[in-house]
Amino acid sequence: MIPFEFEFYTPETVEEAVKVYMTAKSKGLLPMYYSGGTEFISRARRNEIQVDLVIDIKRIDACKLCKADEQELTLGAAVTLTEIIEADLFPLLSDVLLSIATRTARNKITIGGNMMSNLPYKEALLPFLLADSEVVIAGEQGIRQVNIHDVYTDRFSIAPEEWIVQIITNAKALQASYYHEKRTRQSQINYPLVTATSLFDSENTRIALSGVSNNPIRVKQVEDVANDLKKAKDVRVVEMVEALPTQIIDNQEGSSAYREFVLQGMFHDILSKREELQK
Ligand SMILES: Cc1cc2nc3c(=O)[nH]c(=O)nc-3n(C[C@H](O)[C@H](O)[C@H](O)COP(=O)(O)OP(=O)(O)OC[C@H]3O[C@@H](n4cnc5c(N)ncnc54)[C@H](O)[C@@H]3O)c2cc1C
Repeated sequence: MIPFEFEFYTPETVEEAVKVYMTAKSKGLLPMYYSGGTEFISRARRNEIQVDLVIDIKRIDACKLCKADEQELTLGAAVTLTEIIEADLFPLLSDVLLSIATRTARNKITIGGNMMSNLPYKEALLPFLLADSEVVIAGEQGIRQVNIHDVYTDRFSIAPEEWIVQIITNAKALQASYYHEKRTRQSQINYPLVTATSLFDSENTRIALSGVSNNPIRVKQVEDVANDLKKAKDVRVVEMVEALPTQIIDNQEGSSAYREFVLQGMFHDILSKREELQK
């Protein structure tokens, strides 16, 4: 049971959702955007959050869009992980989403909810970081479309009243060769110890990681080392780990040393896959 009372709004337009948020704020109330609701419900039950008003974005048409044309793939923030997997328009994304939670949970969890999760993993972000996707953001000033790297480095920097409406990915990235490996502490269905993803374009290897630091990261310095073909593979693997900007996290799920060991193996596999593709 949720131990507090709150109002539940289901706006039908992007503008209405922002308006509800701003009106609540002006009355001194605590509003919150809501998509699949799985994280909201579990945090509320544990008394980790307290809100006065919830704004469910699922009735907004733009948030339910899941469509690709010759130019791009558009995913609404309220599309569920299952819907995206079944549409299978971005193979790397489908693969990553299939490794998140159980089918029952994936029927509820949405792409926007995973990207904006308060948990550190946010694995759905990885393919979008690799593909340099664009994010459509709604706020008090209207709607803006920006490159994901302009609003996300190791966390999203958007205003509290802003929210994600859609994620748009260039069609070129959708069919690129990729690598995805998720290592968990125990069962296959679990939060990652380390998840490594890679997209290979004609010249470069792109790499994004989850489980290594407080949020998913894509690090240019790591990619620069990976792409420095003058160096031997084993040397690059060591230098890629050294190029990480932060200390690898250390917690009860796994020590920093163990994560580093796992990561080295994954970096090795990424570089080997690149070699295979170039043969
Ligand atoms: C059984 C289970 C296993 C899981 N395993 C994994 C895993 O292996 N890897 C992983 O990465 N995650 C995992 N998760 C976490 C899950 O992906 C997140 O909790 C996710 O936030 C849930 O999505 P939702 O749509 O239900 O979010 P909600 O509960 O609706 O929202 C979550 C947060 O995001 C905000 N939010 C939602 N939509 C938007 C939006 N469009 N714009 C701005 N903010 C928004 C909300 O305000 C809230 O703070 C697991 C969850 C469960 C239940």
